[in-house]
Amino acid sequence: MNVSLASVGEAIWVLGIVAWYVIRYSFERRAKRARIVKDKNSLLDKVGLASALFGLAIFPVFYVISGIPEAADFPVHLWTVILGGGIFLSALVLFRITHKSLGKNWSITLQIREQHCLVRTGPYALVRHPMYTSFLLMVSGQFFLLANWFVGLLGLLGFAILFFLRVDKEEEMMLDKFGQQYRSYMGTSKRIIPFVY
Ligand code: SAH
Repeated sequence: MNVSLASVGEAIWVLGIVAWYVIRYSFERRAKRARIVKDKNSLLDKVGLASALFGLAIFPVFYVISGIPEAADFPVHLWTVILGGGIFLSALVLFRITHKSLGKNWSITLQIREQHCLVRTGPYALVRHPMYTSFLLMVSGQFFLLANWFVGLLGLLGFAILFFLRVDKEEEMMLDKFGQQYRSYMGTSKRIIPFVY
């Protein structure tokens, strides 16, 4: 059997996406039990979520099945597959840790739950949005595993649309709820890249 390195990269990406879904699904069920007291859900936020879904799942799946756009492929090497797999794995580990840290405070859109508390521990000690950091790592892992410029850029675009449509509103909502506590948290943490941004 002659398995190409490119298919190995694609297979690792597919496994990674399945693992991502398994992690999310188990926490989603738990978080749903906590009542929502404030909902900042908006059309723009839905656009952001849809963009991320398109760039990080729907289009890449289409690419894995069809190979389109082939002209944007770049050469696959053992190191690109190992690097992509390593980055994707670290994204999954961080994704799970952030879900565990947020616990019942987690929600897919911008919401405040009953007995919402401000989490500042674990990865939240360094950055305010480590779950979005894990998405950025996923985008980078996807780029190396699928080895296609177009798919890589689309992933980055999907992430950027979600992040920039959401982050100011999310921080406003948290400031509204936690006031001075969140303000001081903003003074000691960055947004998604520790010590940088
Ligand atoms: N932006 C965060 C969380 C994403 S989930 C991250 O990237 O890790 C989105 C929900 O998490 C929001 O509706 C908000 O209510 C909640 N949230 C965000 N930061 C939080 C924090 N530090 N403590 C508790 N809840 C938080």
